Amino acid sequence: MSLFKNVLVQFEKAAVLADLDPDLKMVLLEPERIVTVKVPVKMDNGGLRIFEGFRVQHNSARGPYKGGIRYHQDVDMAEVRSLASWMTIKCAVVGIPLGGGKGGIVVDPKELSKGELERLTRGYVRLIAPVIGPEMDVPAPDVNTDGEIMSWIADEYSKIVGRDEKGVVTGKPVGQGGSVGRDEATARGGFIILDEMRKDEGFKAEEMRFVMQGFGNAGATMAKLMVDAGYKLVGASDSRMGIYCAEGLDVDELMAFKASGDNFANYDNPRVEKIEGRGILEKECEVLVLAALENQVDSGNAHGVKAKIVFELANGPTTPDADDILKDRGVRVIPDVLANAGGVTVSYFEMLQNKDDNYWNEQEVRDKLTKIMLEAYAGVRKHAEKHSATLREGAYLVAFERLAEAMDL
Ligand code: GLU
Repeated sequence: MSLFKNVLVQFEKAAVLADLDPDLKMVLLEPERIVTVKVPVKMDNGGLRIFEGFRVQHNSARGPYKGGIRYHQDVDMAEVRSLASWMTIKCAVVGIPLGGGKGGIVVDPKELSKGELERLTRGYVRLIAPVIGPEMDVPAPDVNTDGEIMSWIADEYSKIVGRDEKGVVTGKPVGQGGSVGRDEATARGGFIILDEMRKDEGFKAEEMRFVMQGFGNAGATMAKLMVDAGYKLVGASDSRMGIYCAEGLDVDELMAFKASGDNFANYDNPRVEKIEGRGILEKECEVLVLAALENQVDSGNAHGVKAKIVFELANGPTTPDADDILKDRGVRVIPDVLANAGGVTVSYFEMLQNKDDNYWNEQEVRDKLTKIMLEAYAGVRKHAEKHSATLREGAYLVAFERLAEAMDL
Protein backbone atom coordinates (compact mmCIF):
# COMPACT_ATOMS: atom_id res chain seq x y z
CA MET A 1 0.00 0.00 0.00
CA SER A 2 1.36 3.47 -0.81
CA LEU A 3 2.17 5.76 2.05
CA PHE A 4 -0.52 8.21 1.09
CA LYS A 5 -3.14 5.45 1.26
CA ASN A 6 -1.95 4.84 4.82
CA VAL A 7 -2.61 8.49 5.60
CA LEU A 8 -6.09 8.25 4.10
CA VAL A 9 -6.96 5.17 6.16
CA GLN A 10 -5.66 6.70 9.39
CA PHE A 11 -7.52 9.98 8.77
CA GLU A 12 -10.70 8.16 7.82
CA LYS A 13 -10.75 5.92 10.90
CA ALA A 14 -10.16 8.80 13.28
CA ALA A 15 -12.57 11.09 11.42
CA VAL A 16 -15.37 8.59 12.01
CA LEU A 17 -14.57 8.37 15.72
CA ALA A 18 -14.29 12.14 16.04
CA ASP A 19 -17.43 12.71 13.99
CA LEU A 20 -15.31 15.20 12.08
CA ASP A 21 -17.03 17.84 10.00
CA PRO A 22 -16.83 16.62 6.34
CA ASP A 23 -15.59 20.02 5.12
CA LEU A 24 -12.81 19.96 7.64
CA LYS A 25 -11.89 16.45 6.62
CA MET A 26 -11.80 17.53 2.99
CA VAL A 27 -9.43 20.39 3.83
CA LEU A 28 -7.17 18.17 5.93
CA LEU A 29 -6.79 15.63 3.15
CA GLU A 30 -5.32 18.17 0.74
CA PRO A 31 -2.04 20.06 1.09
CA GLU A 32 -2.36 23.83 0.74
CA ARG A 33 0.66 24.12 -1.53
CA ILE A 34 2.96 21.74 -3.37
CA VAL A 35 6.21 23.00 -4.83
CA THR A 36 8.32 20.86 -7.17
CA VAL A 37 11.78 22.07 -8.10
CA LYS A 38 14.55 20.89 -10.40
CA VAL A 39 17.92 21.80 -8.98
CA PRO A 40 20.88 21.95 -11.38
CA VAL A 41 24.15 21.07 -9.63
CA LYS A 42 27.66 21.36 -11.01
CA MET A 43 29.31 18.05 -10.05
CA ASP A 44 32.96 17.71 -9.06
CA ASN A 45 33.79 16.04 -12.38
CA GLY A 46 32.66 19.16 -14.26
CA GLY A 47 29.35 17.61 -15.42
CA LEU A 48 25.90 18.88 -14.57
CA ARG A 49 23.15 16.90 -12.84
CA ILE A 50 19.59 17.91 -12.16
CA PHE A 51 17.98 16.78 -8.92
CA GLU A 52 14.27 16.79 -8.23
CA GLY A 53 13.04 18.24 -4.94
CA PHE A 54 9.76 19.02 -3.23
CA ARG A 55 8.32 21.17 -0.49
CA VAL A 56 4.78 20.37 0.56
CA GLN A 57 2.88 22.79 2.79
CA HIS A 58 0.02 20.86 4.22
CA ASN A 59 -1.82 23.06 6.69
CA SER A 60 -1.14 26.41 8.39
CA ALA A 61 -4.31 26.85 10.47
CA ARG A 62 -2.34 26.61 13.72
CA GLY A 63 0.81 28.45 12.62
CA PRO A 64 3.64 28.45 10.06
CA TYR A 65 4.26 25.22 8.18
CA LYS A 66 6.89 23.13 9.96
CA GLY A 67 8.71 19.98 9.05
CA GLY A 68 11.98 18.44 7.97
CA ILE A 69 13.71 17.93 4.65
CA ARG A 70 14.89 14.45 3.75
CA TYR A 71 17.53 13.40 1.26
CA HIS A 72 16.85 9.91 -0.04
CA GLN A 73 16.92 8.13 -3.37
CA ASP A 74 13.35 6.84 -2.86
CA VAL A 75 11.75 10.20 -2.02
CA ASP A 76 8.68 11.02 -4.09
CA MET A 77 5.86 13.50 -3.95
CA ALA A 78 3.35 11.09 -2.40
CA GLU A 79 5.77 10.34 0.42
CA VAL A 80 6.54 14.00 1.14
CA ARG A 81 2.85 14.79 1.02
CA SER A 82 2.09 12.06 3.56
CA LEU A 83 4.88 13.18 5.85
CA ALA A 84 3.66 16.80 5.62
CA SER A 85 0.17 15.83 6.74
CA TRP A 86 1.58 13.85 9.66
CA MET A 87 3.47 17.01 10.71
CA THR A 88 0.17 18.92 10.92
CA ILE A 89 -1.23 16.21 13.18
CA LYS A 90 1.98 15.95 15.22
CA CYS A 91 2.23 19.67 16.01
CA ALA A 92 -1.43 19.69 17.03
CA VAL A 93 -0.97 16.60 19.25
CA VAL A 94 1.76 18.31 21.29
CA GLY A 95 -0.12 21.61 21.18
CA ILE A 96 2.60 23.79 19.65
CA PRO A 97 1.38 26.66 17.44
CA LEU A 98 2.70 25.31 14.14
CA GLY A 99 1.29 23.74 11.01
CA GLY A 100 2.66 20.92 8.90
CA GLY A 101 5.07 20.77 5.99
CA LYS A 102 7.79 18.55 4.62
CA GLY A 103 10.50 18.64 2.00
CA GLY A 104 12.58 16.13 0.16
CA ILE A 105 15.20 15.77 -2.52
CA VAL A 106 15.58 12.63 -4.63
CA VAL A 107 19.23 11.88 -3.97
CA ASP A 108 21.43 9.30 -2.30
CA PRO A 109 23.63 11.68 -0.32
CA LYS A 110 26.26 8.97 0.19
CA GLU A 111 27.08 9.28 -3.53
CA LEU A 112 27.79 13.01 -3.34
CA SER A 113 30.90 14.80 -2.12
CA LYS A 114 30.45 17.40 0.60
CA GLY A 115 30.85 20.20 -1.94
CA GLU A 116 28.20 18.70 -4.20
CA LEU A 117 25.84 18.28 -1.27
CA GLU A 118 26.31 21.91 -0.28
CA ARG A 119 25.70 23.15 -3.83
CA LEU A 120 22.58 20.97 -4.05
CA THR A 121 21.27 22.30 -0.73
CA ARG A 122 21.92 25.92 -1.63
CA GLY A 123 20.33 25.44 -5.07
CA TYR A 124 17.23 23.89 -3.48
CA VAL A 125 16.97 26.83 -1.06
CA ARG A 126 17.17 29.35 -3.91
CA LEU A 127 14.21 27.64 -5.57
CA ILE A 128 12.00 27.29 -2.48
CA ALA A 129 13.01 30.66 -0.94
CA PRO A 130 9.82 32.43 -2.11
CA VAL A 131 7.66 30.12 0.00
CA ILE A 132 9.74 29.66 3.17
CA GLY A 133 10.60 32.04 6.01
CA PRO A 134 10.46 32.28 9.82
CA GLU A 135 6.79 33.26 9.78
CA MET A 136 5.82 31.15 6.80
CA ASP A 137 7.50 27.76 6.60
CA VAL A 138 10.43 26.56 8.68
CA PRO A 139 12.31 23.44 7.53
CA ALA A 140 14.39 21.18 9.79
CA PRO A 141 16.45 17.99 9.62
CA ASP A 142 14.94 14.65 8.69
CA VAL A 143 16.35 11.43 7.18
CA ASN A 144 19.98 12.03 6.00
CA THR A 145 20.02 15.77 6.79
CA ASP A 146 21.79 17.33 9.77
CA GLY A 147 22.89 20.53 11.51
CA GLU A 148 25.50 21.36 8.92
CA ILE A 149 22.96 21.18 6.10
CA MET A 150 20.61 23.37 8.18
CA SER A 151 23.36 25.98 8.58
CA TRP A 152 23.83 26.06 4.76
CA ILE A 153 20.07 26.63 4.45
CA ALA A 154 20.12 29.50 6.98
CA ASP A 155 23.13 31.06 5.28
CA GLU A 156 21.74 30.81 1.74
CA TYR A 157 18.33 32.14 2.76
CA SER A 158 19.92 35.04 4.69
CA LYS A 159 21.94 35.96 1.59
CA ILE A 160 18.79 35.94 -0.55
CA VAL A 161 16.77 38.19 1.76
CA GLY A 162 19.75 40.39 2.59
CA ARG A 163 19.59 40.05 6.36
CA ASP A 164 20.37 37.51 9.06
CA GLU A 165 17.37 35.16 9.10
CA LYS A 166 18.58 32.14 11.02
CA GLY A 167 15.00 31.53 12.17
CA VAL A 168 14.17 30.23 8.67
CA VAL A 169 15.28 26.77 9.69
CA THR A 170 15.70 24.75 12.91
CA GLY A 171 18.09 21.99 13.91
CA LYS A 172 21.04 24.34 13.39
CA PRO A 173 24.29 23.67 15.25
CA VAL A 174 24.46 25.24 18.70
CA GLY A 175 26.50 28.43 18.28
CA GLN A 176 24.84 29.16 14.95
CA GLY A 177 21.44 29.77 16.45
CA GLY A 178 20.62 26.17 17.28
CA SER A 179 19.04 25.07 20.55
CA VAL A 180 20.88 22.89 23.01
CA GLY A 181 19.10 19.56 23.23
CA ARG A 182 17.74 19.64 19.63
CA ASP A 183 20.06 16.83 18.52
CA GLU A 184 18.73 14.41 21.10
CA ALA A 185 15.19 15.82 21.22
CA THR A 186 13.43 13.15 19.14
CA ALA A 187 15.04 10.40 21.21
CA ARG A 188 14.51 12.10 24.56
CA GLY A 189 10.90 12.97 23.78
CA GLY A 190 10.33 9.34 22.80
CA PHE A 191 12.00 8.04 25.91
CA ILE A 192 9.89 10.29 28.16
CA ILE A 193 6.71 8.83 26.70
CA LEU A 194 7.85 5.22 26.66
CA ASP A 195 9.03 5.37 30.25
CA GLU A 196 5.77 6.97 31.36
CA MET A 197 3.84 4.20 29.66
CA ARG A 198 6.05 1.57 31.29
CA LYS A 199 5.23 3.04 34.70
CA ASP A 200 1.53 3.21 33.85
CA GLU A 201 1.56 -0.45 32.88
CA GLY A 202 3.43 -1.42 36.03
CA PHE A 203 6.59 -2.84 34.43
CA LYS A 204 10.11 -2.51 35.80
CA ALA A 205 12.69 -1.10 33.36
CA GLU A 206 14.90 -4.15 34.02
CA GLU A 207 12.13 -6.41 32.69
CA MET A 208 12.07 -4.59 29.38
CA ARG A 209 14.20 -6.12 26.63
CA PHE A 210 14.17 -4.03 23.48
CA VAL A 211 15.07 -4.12 19.81
CA MET A 212 16.07 -0.91 18.02
CA GLN A 213 15.37 -1.02 14.29
CA GLY A 214 17.48 1.82 12.87
CA PHE A 215 20.58 2.83 14.74
CA GLY A 216 20.97 6.37 13.34
CA ASN A 217 20.97 9.55 15.41
CA ALA A 218 17.49 9.20 16.90
CA GLY A 219 17.57 5.41 17.33
CA ALA A 220 21.03 5.16 18.88
CA THR A 221 20.37 8.08 21.23
CA MET A 222 17.07 6.59 22.40
CA ALA A 223 18.77 3.19 22.88
CA LYS A 224 21.36 4.87 25.09
CA LEU A 225 18.72 6.66 27.17
CA MET A 226 16.83 3.39 27.60
CA VAL A 227 19.91 1.40 28.61
CA ASP A 228 20.91 4.10 31.10
CA ALA A 229 17.43 3.76 32.65
CA GLY A 230 17.80 -0.03 33.01
CA TYR A 231 16.17 -1.38 29.81
CA LYS A 232 18.09 -4.17 28.08
CA LEU A 233 19.15 -3.79 24.44
CA VAL A 234 18.94 -7.22 22.77
CA GLY A 235 18.69 -6.30 19.07
CA ALA A 236 19.63 -3.50 16.69
CA SER A 237 19.77 -2.96 12.96
CA ASP A 238 20.96 -0.52 10.32
CA SER A 239 20.10 -0.42 6.63
CA ARG A 240 22.51 -3.33 5.99
CA MET A 241 22.00 -5.88 8.79
CA GLY A 242 20.23 -6.76 12.04
CA ILE A 243 22.11 -8.09 15.08
CA TYR A 244 20.57 -9.91 18.05
CA CYS A 245 21.95 -11.22 21.33
CA ALA A 246 19.60 -12.47 24.07
CA GLU A 247 22.23 -11.77 26.76
CA GLY A 248 22.33 -8.12 25.73
CA LEU A 249 24.27 -5.83 23.42
CA ASP A 250 26.69 -3.13 24.56
CA VAL A 251 25.11 0.15 23.48
CA ASP A 252 28.29 2.22 23.87
CA GLU A 253 30.26 -0.24 21.79
CA LEU A 254 27.60 -0.20 19.06
CA MET A 255 27.51 3.61 19.06
CA ALA A 256 31.30 3.77 18.70
CA PHE A 257 31.17 1.13 15.94
CA LYS A 258 28.57 3.12 13.97
CA ALA A 259 30.39 6.42 14.60
CA SER A 260 33.44 4.91 12.89
CA GLY A 261 31.34 4.79 9.72
CA ASP A 262 30.96 1.01 9.69
CA ASN A 263 27.72 -0.96 9.30
CA PHE A 264 26.36 -3.99 11.15
CA ALA A 265 27.07 -6.35 8.24
CA ASN A 266 30.72 -6.06 9.34
CA TYR A 267 30.03 -6.34 13.06
CA ASP A 268 31.86 -9.42 14.20
CA ASN A 269 31.05 -10.88 17.59
CA PRO A 270 30.57 -14.64 18.10
CA ARG A 271 27.76 -14.07 20.65
CA VAL A 272 25.72 -12.09 18.14
CA GLU A 273 23.26 -13.53 15.63
CA LYS A 274 23.09 -11.71 12.29
CA ILE A 275 19.63 -11.23 10.80
CA GLU A 276 18.92 -10.09 7.27
CA GLY A 277 16.16 -7.73 6.13
CA ARG A 278 13.30 -7.09 8.49
CA GLY A 279 13.80 -10.31 10.47
CA ILE A 280 14.90 -8.33 13.52
CA LEU A 281 11.31 -7.12 13.96
CA GLU A 282 10.16 -10.62 14.86
CA LYS A 283 12.77 -11.34 17.52
CA GLU A 284 11.94 -11.88 21.18
CA CYS A 285 11.64 -8.62 23.17
CA GLU A 286 9.14 -6.54 25.16
CA VAL A 287 9.60 -3.27 23.25
CA LEU A 288 10.19 -2.92 19.53
CA VAL A 289 11.37 0.57 18.61
CA LEU A 290 10.95 1.41 14.92
CA ALA A 291 13.50 4.10 14.13
CA ALA A 292 14.20 3.46 10.46
CA LEU A 293 11.81 4.24 7.59
CA GLU A 294 8.12 3.87 6.81
CA ASN A 295 6.13 0.66 6.09
CA GLN A 296 8.30 -1.68 8.14
CA VAL A 297 5.60 -3.58 10.03
CA ASP A 298 2.93 -4.67 7.55
CA SER A 299 0.37 -7.45 7.19
CA GLY A 300 3.20 -9.84 6.26
CA ASN A 301 5.15 -9.62 9.52
CA ALA A 302 2.75 -8.11 12.10
CA HIS A 303 1.72 -11.59 13.28
CA GLY A 304 5.36 -12.38 14.01
CA VAL A 305 6.03 -9.36 16.23
CA LYS A 306 6.76 -10.63 19.75
CA ALA A 307 6.93 -7.26 21.50
CA LYS A 308 4.14 -6.01 23.78
CA ILE A 309 4.86 -2.41 22.85
CA VAL A 310 5.70 -1.12 19.37
CA PHE A 311 7.19 2.35 19.53
CA GLU A 312 7.23 4.48 16.35
CA LEU A 313 10.26 6.74 16.53
CA ALA A 314 10.25 6.92 12.71
CA ASN A 315 7.36 8.37 10.71
CA GLY A 316 4.82 5.90 9.34
CA PRO A 317 6.63 2.62 10.14
CA THR A 318 3.41 0.61 10.75
CA THR A 319 0.83 0.13 7.99
CA PRO A 320 -2.90 0.37 8.83
CA ASP A 321 -3.32 -3.39 8.18
CA ALA A 322 -0.55 -4.11 10.64
CA ASP A 323 -2.12 -1.69 13.11
CA ASP A 324 -5.30 -3.79 13.06
CA ILE A 325 -3.40 -7.05 13.49
CA LEU A 326 -1.35 -5.67 16.39
CA LYS A 327 -4.48 -4.31 18.04
CA ASP A 328 -6.20 -7.71 17.80
CA ARG A 329 -3.13 -9.34 19.31
CA GLY A 330 -3.11 -6.88 22.23
CA VAL A 331 0.14 -5.17 21.18
CA ARG A 332 0.20 -1.47 22.08
CA VAL A 333 1.45 0.88 19.36
CA ILE A 334 2.77 4.27 20.45
CA PRO A 335 2.11 6.27 17.29
CA ASP A 336 4.68 8.41 15.45
CA VAL A 337 2.65 11.62 15.76
CA LEU A 338 3.15 11.39 19.52
CA ALA A 339 6.24 9.18 19.84
CA ASN A 340 8.64 11.28 17.77
CA ALA A 341 7.14 14.72 18.42
CA GLY A 342 10.04 15.67 20.72
CA GLY A 343 12.05 16.75 17.68
CA VAL A 344 9.61 19.30 16.39
CA THR A 345 8.87 20.45 19.94
CA VAL A 346 12.49 21.46 20.51
CA SER A 347 12.47 22.94 16.98
CA TYR A 348 9.69 25.17 18.24
CA PHE A 349 11.86 26.08 21.25
CA GLU A 350 14.63 26.96 18.80
CA MET A 351 12.26 29.29 16.91
CA LEU A 352 11.34 31.03 20.17
CA GLN A 353 14.99 31.42 21.18
CA ASN A 354 15.90 32.82 17.73
CA LYS A 355 13.05 35.30 17.89
CA ASP A 356 14.04 36.59 21.34
CA ASP A 357 17.78 36.18 20.72
CA ASN A 358 17.84 34.65 24.17
CA TYR A 359 19.16 31.12 24.63
CA TRP A 360 18.06 28.52 27.17
CA ASN A 361 20.24 26.02 29.00
CA GLU A 362 19.97 22.25 28.77
CA GLN A 363 17.91 21.88 31.92
CA GLU A 364 15.36 24.46 30.76
CA VAL A 365 14.99 22.67 27.41
CA ARG A 366 14.60 19.27 29.09
CA ASP A 367 12.07 20.52 31.64
CA LYS A 368 9.93 22.23 29.01
CA LEU A 369 10.14 19.20 26.70
CA THR A 370 9.18 16.83 29.51
CA LYS A 371 6.17 18.93 30.43
CA ILE A 372 4.89 19.07 26.83
CA MET A 373 5.46 15.37 26.13
CA LEU A 374 3.79 14.20 29.34
CA GLU A 375 0.79 16.47 28.80
CA ALA A 376 0.45 15.24 25.23
CA TYR A 377 0.67 11.61 26.32
CA ALA A 378 -1.96 12.12 29.02
CA GLY A 379 -4.30 13.85 26.55
CA VAL A 380 -3.89 11.13 23.93
CA ARG A 381 -4.45 8.40 26.48
CA LYS A 382 -7.55 10.09 27.83
CA HIS A 383 -9.06 10.47 24.36
CA ALA A 384 -8.19 6.87 23.46
CA GLU A 385 -9.78 5.53 26.64
CA LYS A 386 -12.90 7.62 26.22
CA HIS A 387 -13.49 6.13 22.76
CA SER A 388 -12.07 2.65 23.51
CA ALA A 389 -9.66 3.45 20.71
CA THR A 390 -5.98 2.93 19.97
CA LEU A 391 -3.40 5.52 20.96
CA ARG A 392 -3.07 6.46 17.28
CA GLU A 393 -6.77 7.18 17.11
CA GLY A 394 -6.51 9.03 20.44
CA ALA A 395 -3.75 11.21 19.00
CA TYR A 396 -5.82 12.04 15.92
CA LEU A 397 -8.80 12.88 18.12
CA VAL A 398 -6.70 15.39 20.08
CA ALA A 399 -5.30 16.85 16.84
CA PHE A 400 -8.67 17.10 15.11
CA GLU A 401 -10.16 18.96 18.08
CA ARG A 402 -7.34 21.51 18.03
CA LEU A 403 -7.35 21.85 14.25
CA ALA A 404 -11.13 22.24 14.14
CA GLU A 405 -10.93 25.01 16.69
CA ALA A 406 -8.19 26.82 14.75
CA MET A 407 -9.99 26.48 11.44
CA ASP A 408 -13.31 27.62 12.89
CA LEU A 409 -11.63 30.70 14.31
N1 GLU B 1 11.83 15.76 10.80
C1 GLU B 1 11.34 15.76 12.15
C2 GLU B 1 9.96 15.17 12.22
O1 GLU B 1 9.55 14.40 11.39
C3 GLU B 1 11.46 17.13 12.80
C4 GLU B 1 10.68 18.24 12.18
C5 GLU B 1 10.98 19.61 12.73
O2 GLU B 1 11.72 19.73 13.69
O3 GLU B 1 10.44 20.55 12.16
O4 GLU B 1 9.24 15.39 13.16
